[in-house]
Parts: sequence; C-alpha cells; structure tokens
Amino acid sequence: MKRITIAKGDGIGPEIMDATLSIIKAAGAELEYDEIEVGEKVYLSGNTSGIASESWDIIRRNKVFLKAPITTPQGGGYKSLNVTTRKFLGLYSNVRPCTSLHPFVATKHPEMDIVIVRENEEDLYAGIEHQQTDEVVQCLKIISRPGCEKIVRYAFEYARAYGRKKVTCFTKDNIMKQADGLFHQVFDEIAAEYPEIENEHWIIDIGAAKMSDTPEVFDVIVTLNLYGDVLSDIAAQIAGSVGLAGSANIGEECAMFEAIHGSAPRRAGQNLANPSGLLQGAVMMLTHMGMTDVAEKVQNAWLKTIEDGVHTYDIFKEGTSKVKVGTKEFADAIIANLGQKPSKLKAVTYKTDATLNLPKYERKAPKAKKLVGVDVFLHYRGTNPDELGAAASKIGFDSVSLSMITNRGIKVWPEGFSETFCTDHWRCRFKSATGALSKQDIITLLSNAEAHGLDVIKTENLYEFDGKAAFSLGQGQ
Ligand code: NAD
Repeated sequence: MKRITIAKGDGIGPEIMDATLSIIKAAGAELEYDEIEVGEKVYLSGNTSGIASESWDIIRRNKVFLKAPITTPQGGGYKSLNVTTRKFLGLYSNVRPCTSLHPFVATKHPEMDIVIVRENEEDLYAGIEHQQTDEVVQCLKIISRPGCEKIVRYAFEYARAYGRKKVTCFTKDNIMKQADGLFHQVFDEIAAEYPEIENEHWIIDIGAAKMSDTPEVFDVIVTLNLYGDVLSDIAAQIAGSVGLAGSANIGEECAMFEAIHGSAPRRAGQNLANPSGLLQGAVMMLTHMGMTDVAEKVQNAWLKTIEDGVHTYDIFKEGTSKVKVGTKEFADAIIANLGQKPSKLKAVTYKTDATLNLPKYERKAPKAKKLVGVDVFLHYRGTNPDELGAAASKIGFDSVSLSMITNRGIKVWPEGFSETFCTDHWRCRFKSATGALSKQDIITLLSNAEAHGLDVIKTENLYEFDGKAAFSLGQGQ
C-alpha cells in the first residue's frame, strides 16, 4: 500500500474526487489516503495561502498529491494555491496531454494527440517586478541552465517512456537570443542524447499558429513557462475537451496531479459534473507511481465508456451520445468497463518500466568570466537623446566611456532617429577601451552620476564568458 495526499477541494471537487477514487480503487490501485483541506474554507478562515502549515507536512511526507479544483474567493489578497504549491515543492514540469476523442467528442482536429511539457518555475513567472520610473515597469524573465536542462530532459524521457516519436521545442530565440537562446541551446544538447527520437525547433509564433491549425504534426512539445501556459490551454480547447484534460506537476521529490478545469460552483452538488479531467490526472499519477497496469486498465475503460456514448451533460450531443449520465453513473460505467478496451479509439499500453530516468542537475565547470562594461539605467525626464548623451558622457573617466544610449532597447544615441519615441527610462552603456572594467570603476561611474545630478535606477554588468560577449546589443546597433 502506498499513501498519497488528497484534497477534495470546492464546488464539484468532492463529487469528482469520490468518482475518481472509486474508479481507481475498483481497478486495483493499492493506495491509502491522507485527506487535507485546501481552498475556499481555508482562505475564508483568514489563511491567505489557502492551505494550513500542517497540510504541507502531510504533502511533503507522502510526496504524491491528488488535488481537486478549488474556489479562490473573490477580492484581493488571496494567493494562488497552485502557484505556491508548484514553487514550494519545486514542481518544475507541467505535463498536459491533449488528445482528441473523435468522433465521440466534437473537435475540428480528429487526429490530434499531443503532450505539452511546460517549464513551471521560471520565466516571467518568477514574479520579479519593479516600477523604475514614472513611465516604466519591468518584469524580469529568469531562465536558468538547470531549469532548461531539467525540463528538456523530462520531455525526452517522457517521450522515450511513452513511445512518443518526436519532441518539438518552441522558443522566441530570434528575439530573446540570451534567454530563449539558452533554452534552445540546451534543447539541442539534450536532443543529441536521444537519437531515436526526432527533434525540431519552431519559433513560438508560427509554431503556435501551426499547432492551432494542424496539431497532428506535433507529438511532444517542450517550451518555456509563459508560452506553455498559453499553448496548453489552446491545445486542450482545440482537442475539444477542456473539461476532459488532466495535468501533472512533477518535481524531483514531490508531484501534484489535477484536472485543468475549475470548481464549477454552479454545477456543485447535483451529480452533474464530468470527473474525466481529475481521472486523467489520476491516471498520470498512477503511471508516475509505477502502477502502469492499473493506469492502463482505467484509461482503456474510460476510453471505452466515452466510445459507448455514455456521456455527462458537458459532452453530451444528440446523435453521437447514447445516454446522458451523472457523475456517479459515469464512474459506475467506467468501473463496469474495467478490463475492456475501446474498439474505435486507440487503446493505450503503458510500459511497465515507464519510470523516467531523471538525474539530478550537476553544476558545470565555471567559465572564465570577465567584466567588460556596464549598463547604467537612468530616470531622465528630458526627451532629447543628444542632451542626455552630452550629460552622461561627462560621468565617464580614463578609458571608461559612454558607447551607446538606448530607450526601450532601441539605440537613440549616437546617431538616433528623431522619429524614435522615447520614454523617461534610458540605458547608458559604458565600456572600457582596455576591454576590462573593475567593480571600483562602476562605483566611480555611479558617484560621478550622483555628482552630475543623474538619477541612476539600476545597473547591469556586461560580462564575457570564455571570451564570448554575454549580453545583447542595442537594437539598431
Ligand atoms: P471552471 O472551469 O470552474 O468552469 C468553466 C465552465 O466549465 C463552467 O461552465 C463549468 O460549469 C464547466 N465545467 C468545468 N468543469 C466541469 C466538469 N468537470 N464537468 C462539467 N462541467 C464543467 O472555471 P471558472 O467558472 O472560471 O472558475 C470557477 C472557480 O474555479 C473559480 O473560483 C476559479 O478560481 C477556480 N479555478 C480553480 C482551478 C484549480 O483549482 N486548479 C482552476 C481554474 C479555476
């Protein structure tokens, strides 16, 4: 017997959880449950995180968490339990299979069968935001090598374990050459270790367009957090089945499984809700725990039930569906089908050793790092780049001089265009003619700026790693 943590959540949560647990129990899952309370009641008791600290202990002890949807109360101040759980537990990988169930559930994409593997901790979701001037706020996009390696390896290991043929990487590295460039580079490195799996890279914009139009050309897609967030909802929707999709959030120690839909409060307590999303989460949980035989049995019985036209109200369609059932009856129909396989939909087979080989990240040997310049960001209310160029040039000294000014990334000095719109947020790039700068040089620059009345809001050091410039040029430079 293995112990897992469950939370029945709010709204339709308790009904779909009961249905899910009854199905996996009947299929032979040898599980024991510790139930914790999360969501609305906990929020309204004054706990803004939606979960009690004792519950964290239980989740961390059991390591596997099956969570029904919760209701986040209206009004500010309540933190997203999902985001907190992902970050606290280091659940770096979000896995969302999106498969159409044509012709039993309506979709324009009958052949669609993709899995989106989304990085879950980094990117713009690091939540590091600042207002710097009257006119400008920034949100930092943080991408790390460990973060990229972990998610890309997860995607290839997933593909190998589940018999998938291709992994596609989506980035925008034609624009974000450093951040998305690192993700793409790590993808190429790791792809080389899996020669039996096809790999390709698409720029996210055209890739997303292609996925929305011709999803059948994709298999596993691996991408950064924000792109994955958007893409995975589109993929679930065009598969015809937002209400049928589950998701897994996997970390090195712990994992959380859930439906992708919310708590549907208007449907609560009426035996109407479709438990399929949470059941799909539970199937991923069973394979994650190595109970692949039980997972396979549940999945095939579920496919057979959908194929039999036994449908809850949300997917019921005159002509295709045969019987409209409630939550409990749908679960009973799946239980009655355990041991059977679908005949038109593709039956699943999960390998008994579907566990993924995910070594811990090993820090690489440090590169030779050399400080070669500094970007000094200013809050400057003037509008003439040449005036700022003259003022900022004065803070340079010896070999350290102003080489460029940009505004929102576009070079405006020297030789800017008068047409370029400028805000009150300016970047002044200082470089050393000798090719090397010291931290003391930066301090001198900042003191000089202070003496000349320039309002410095931040600096960014410009480095070379192993002799290669590791910063972007100004646009137009
Ligand atoms: P929702 O997903 O709860 O509902 C959207 C629509 O889909 C509704 O018409 C609903 O009746 C229907 N629906 C959803 N799941 C269904 C199911 N299993 N069977 C049949 N019909 C289903 O989204 P919402 O209405 O925007 O949000 C309701 C609450 O859920 C909010 O408090 C929101 O914060 C929360 N929410 C929670 C999660 C989560 O816990 N992971 C995710 C999304 C939303």
